[in-house]
Amino acid sequence: MYVSLYRQWRPQNFDEFVGQEHIVRTLTHALEQGRTTHAYLFCGPRGTGKTTTARILAKALNCHDRKGAKPCGKCSSCQQITDGNSLDVFEIDGASNRGIDEIRNLLEKVHFAPGEGRFKIYIIDEVHMLTNEAFNALLKTLEEPPGHVVFIFATTEAHKLPATIISRCQRFDFRRFSLSEITDSLEKMIASENRTAEPAALAIIAEHADGGMRDAQSLLDQCLVFSSGILKASDVQEVLGIIDRRTYIDLGQFLVARDMQAAFVQIEQLNAMGKDLQQFARGAVSFFRDLLFFQTLKSAPSDAYPESERADMRMLAQNLAPDVIVAALDAFIHVEREAKDLGDARLALQLAEARLFVRQHDSLGSDGRSDGSTALASAPAASAPVASRKSAKSAKSAKSAAADMPAAASTTQSATATHMSPAMPVISLNEIRDQWPAIMEMLKRERISLQAFALEARVVGLEGNVLKLGFEEKYALHRDKVQSENKLVEQVIHKVTGVPLQINCVLLSETGKVDTSSGNTSWQGEPAVKAALDVFGGEVKQSGTGKDGRGGNKK
Ligand SMILES: [Zn+2]
Repeated sequence: MYVSLYRQWRPQNFDEFVGQEHIVRTLTHALEQGRTTHAYLFCGPRGTGKTTTARILAKALNCHDRKGAKPCGKCSSCQQITDGNSLDVFEIDGASNRGIDEIRNLLEKVHFAPGEGRFKIYIIDEVHMLTNEAFNALLKTLEEPPGHVVFIFATTEAHKLPATIISRCQRFDFRRFSLSEITDSLEKMIASENRTAEPAALAIIAEHADGGMRDAQSLLDQCLVFSSGILKASDVQEVLGIIDRRTYIDLGQFLVARDMQAAFVQIEQLNAMGKDLQQFARGAVSFFRDLLFFQTLKSAPSDAYPESERADMRMLAQNLAPDVIVAALDAFIHVEREAKDLGDARLALQLAEARLFVRQHDSLGSDGRSDGSTALASAPAASAPVASRKSAKSAKSAKSAAADMPAAASTTQSATATHMSPAMPVISLNEIRDQWPAIMEMLKRERISLQAFALEARVVGLEGNVLKLGFEEKYALHRDKVQSENKLVEQVIHKVTGVPLQINCVLLSETGKVDTSSGNTSWQGEPAVKAALDVFGGEVKQSGTGKDGRGGNKK
């Protein structure tokens, strides 16, 4: 019969334990010195060894032939605990035995002496699931425990336990296993199976297990069954349904090149390959988080990145402005919810990427002028062709551009400040868009009925101190409602942004006409916008970040 790696490798003794040294040391000393207590609380994330430790402790307490802290593993008591049929060790799951009756049953014979061992040991897993009545019943025994009773509680959510319980226990906090602890133990296992694995394969498993040894081991189990010969990173990716990191690096490079067309082709390819696009979005979140790490710490966040990928990550970290990376994180985080709302994961992903690319375009300004540090940081780098991304020259130019940035940015700022008329709002359309969710949130608190109408509004333009809100034709009623309550909406906008603005609610069909007449459609030809139009089949509607919208801010 096949025994899973996890069960094969489950430690039977404290000295077989990986990690959690602080806990192992304390328990070992207590056992050696006969200073064990009657109630333990093991807290920590899943798969960090809480119940394993509880069973070793139970064995050690009742072993007939213990050496120091080490249970013999052979005596009748040890055997029975291993087989799960000891009459002195009661192990229950708090999640499925949460009521007072179950706890009363469990404690019914608590005052009778143990049968064979020295102690009656009660292991309650997920103890936070117990009802209040059950806790109270437990507390009575816990307050005056018979000398032969030991409680071991395990929980993933210690904060849900009553303080009265916590205060009567000796508490141990189990931490997540580090990536290297997990990969080390995976290496041992794989060697014992006479198999080999690429280091990157084990690193991916370790990372995916999120600090849980049990998850890591059962994942390895699955992967070994799936593959034969050397376990490759690509095997693991396939088992986990993970999308190859190369795909994300490509996406990062499309962002550097502002090539939205390529990004959209990539989505189509993933879709055609039958990849789960929501999973792709989740992967993108961790990728851009890691990229932020690279950028701030100048090093890899984990050993899951082989050297070849690190070089690409460094390149991306140098060439993408921090706020672009944060915007990417923000965009991909919302894909899952939006996919649910729209009932279409592909559309949700396209929307997220379109916003990201168009936003990048907006931050540069329609006529190529930069409107702040964002564009200053990303524009020179973006003009470096992707094909030559590895050349020392482009890296150098990106660096020198970054070095020039603070001075340039402060010059721009002071120049803007002196030229700015005090009556004019000091805010960009993008800043308003960024704060729009906060504005909606506050409006909801002020008057939820009005917010329901305002939710259909799109921030389409800013001219002087007039913020233009667009509504689709079918939401004409919403437009009227919001416009009629403009004072309240304006107050909320003022409170959130700190800038006094008036609102002008229009139907989107009207803005098209208005803005075409202004003749400013210069960015219709921009690649990012063009790609968006191709995909969504629309026409350009002035967003207000063009010359007209911005012109109002200048003298
Ligand atoms: Zn024993």
